[in-house]
Amino acid sequence: MHLLRSVVNRLRIPLSPSQIAAFDVYRRELVAAGARAGLTALRDPEAIDRRHFGEPLALLRALDDAGCFGSPAIDIGTGAGFPGLPIKIARPDLRLTLLEATGKKIAFLRRTVELLRLDGVTVIQGRAEEIAHDPAHRAAYALALARAVAPLRVLVELALPFVQMGGVLATPKGSAAPREAREAAAALAACGGRIVAMTPLEVPAGAPAPTLVIVRKVAPTPDRYPRRVGIPSRRPL
Ligand code: SAH
Repeated sequence: MHLLRSVVNRLRIPLSPSQIAAFDVYRRELVAAGARAGLTALRDPEAIDRRHFGEPLALLRALDDAGCFGSPAIDIGTGAGFPGLPIKIARPDLRLTLLEATGKKIAFLRRTVELLRLDGVTVIQGRAEEIAHDPAHRAAYALALARAVAPLRVLVELALPFVQMGGVLATPKGSAAPREAREAAAALAACGGRIVAMTPLEVPAGAPAPTLVIVRKVAPTPDRYPRRVGIPSRRPL
């Protein structure tokens, strides 16, 4: 598709014909099943390319430029696979865990991963508050991704427990990024994070440029975090 090609050219992300074909399949699945299952409000292929493919690939570009891309990665609250799956298509070597609470979305993810024949992707149904206490996942990831899941102060508690020391949480934020960053000070101190970059993402013209917030894990997260399901958002740190 035309828009996707221009996006990857501008971002200098080389994609083979089979990778482009994988995006075509993913787009088709989203249009077909997406709206029905409440996976995405977007039906227009160009809007999908911009928001669901372009933005994650811009995130990949920014992480590469910052020297922060790493494997394994976990995408927390991935929904229909964003931003994790487009990044996986572009970087087949990435080991990726997709974490999502909702069963309908999990079914879509499993089907799509199978259809795209992606290796090294683990799909987990669960809540971050619980899975983050599983030793198989705690402090196990070089990179945590999350988009549109929670305000930064809440996300820090949900995501940093998954991150290895020295690894990062990377999350695109809208125009409220500076305020979210200020409000996250206590959560960052409690969970061992430090904001190391806030950079505008190079998204296709027309959309407001999101800000990528990169949080590095600089100290271990105490075992009591994240707190029980629902508490991080009801009583933010
Ligand atoms: N990241 C996707 C979806 C955003 S909607 C995108 O950008 O398109 C937020 C998603 O996070 C929903 O699918 C919701 O089920 C999931 N979610 C919210 N809180 C969660 C939690 N604590 N653990 C796991 N998934 C969660």
